[in-house]
Amino acid sequence: MTNSWSTEVWRLLGIVLVSVIAGLVVDQVTLCVLLGVSSYLGWNLWQLKKLEHWLREGKKLNPPQATGIWGEIYHQLYRLHQRNRKRKRKLADILTRFQESTAAMPDATVVLRETGEIEWWNDAATNLLGLRSPHDVGQRIDNLLRYPVLGQFLASGDFHDRVEVPSPVDERVMLSIQIIQYGNKQRLFVARDTTRLHQLEQIRRDFVANVSHELRSPLTVMIGYLETLLDRESDCLKEWGGSLHVMQQQALRMQHIVDELLLLSHLEGDQKPAHEDDVAVPALIATIRQDAIALGVGKNHNISLEVDASLWLCGNESELRSAFSNLVFNAVQYTPAKGSIVIRWHRDLEAARFSVIDTGIGVAPQHFSRLTERFYRVDSGRSRESGGSGLGLAIVKHVLNRHQAQLQVESELDKGSSFTCVFPLSRSVVRVKEE
Ligand code: ADP
Repeated sequence: MTNSWSTEVWRLLGIVLVSVIAGLVVDQVTLCVLLGVSSYLGWNLWQLKKLEHWLREGKKLNPPQATGIWGEIYHQLYRLHQRNRKRKRKLADILTRFQESTAAMPDATVVLRETGEIEWWNDAATNLLGLRSPHDVGQRIDNLLRYPVLGQFLASGDFHDRVEVPSPVDERVMLSIQIIQYGNKQRLFVARDTTRLHQLEQIRRDFVANVSHELRSPLTVMIGYLETLLDRESDCLKEWGGSLHVMQQQALRMQHIVDELLLLSHLEGDQKPAHEDDVAVPALIATIRQDAIALGVGKNHNISLEVDASLWLCGNESELRSAFSNLVFNAVQYTPAKGSIVIRWHRDLEAARFSVIDTGIGVAPQHFSRLTERFYRVDSGRSRESGGSGLGLAIVKHVLNRHQAQLQVESELDKGSSFTCVFPLSRSVVRVKEE
């Protein structure tokens, strides 16, 4: 650059010098210098015009040729342009590769703007979501996929979970929707076909429900005959009495498991209870307490109530009874004799809470996350001994899910446990005392 500048300065000085000499010769110095400087200016204007033409032509042509500062300017601009072109080509290559790989993905992928309008989608989105180009570009995704659950999910801004909706193209296809946020508040809408998973899940549910159902009748017959045999004063009873009692106990246990499996299948079937009403939880708790006393007879538990008598709950009574009694009966089962159990029902500023607090054997923290799995027992021998099916807390979890509630567990080994059902305030109902 310094070189070209000095060339340029020398060029100007040369022009001025030649103009002065020519001026001295013809005795018109000012005019000649003016002419010289004007021609220099004219030449610069011409170079500017060439530059403007080159820039306007999209820099497709080779840069104009010139010496001095103009040559340097053309050269630098040309280099900059070449570098930009290379960078652009590289970016376009990356974009093409990204689009090709996303297009090949079996999951429907849609790029959304911050406000939810569609920017781009892949082939799978065309097939699974029925998006059509160019008509759907710029449309809001929740206007095209009109499912309330999806609308709420998108509006919530909390995308940790997924939602399941049927495909708008084919109702039999189930889609699991996930939103991934990236870049400057952009969102990737990913829909995965989970039909096969749903089918397998349905097969599993049907299988468990059918087997349980089929086992019910023979079990009832067996229990009936065992009862009859045990009722009779016979020689058979003297000889086989002990075995018959064990058979009856085990048959009843099996019946209990079958009933709980059927209940679980039913709870898994739908997302929410078929029937909901205002449930008188205080009265429900009173009956559960009576049953708990009967269950723990001989253990002398101190079962106390701390109940808000005016607090009711909107939900399904038989499901709530099942969940609450499972928690209370567990407390009875896992609390040694003379221990105390508190059943608490109240509401605070955040939620309505049903808690069962016992001074029982407690659970070590590493088991907390698995307690609600089917057949998960901390100590299977002990659980079986006490007649547990291992399904109680799984039932509690399902019932709570269907009531938009959550189970909180606090426990310390050998000290006791506290199991709390946390219901949204919107489900709580305050009733002035009713007889
Ligand atoms: P179970 O029929 O075996 O009681 P649940 O699903 O009701 O099955 O409970 C799962 C496991 O959680 C139990 O086996 C037991 O180990 C533990 N558990 C549940 N409630 C209590 C409690 N109140 N105190 C101690 N352990 C408990």
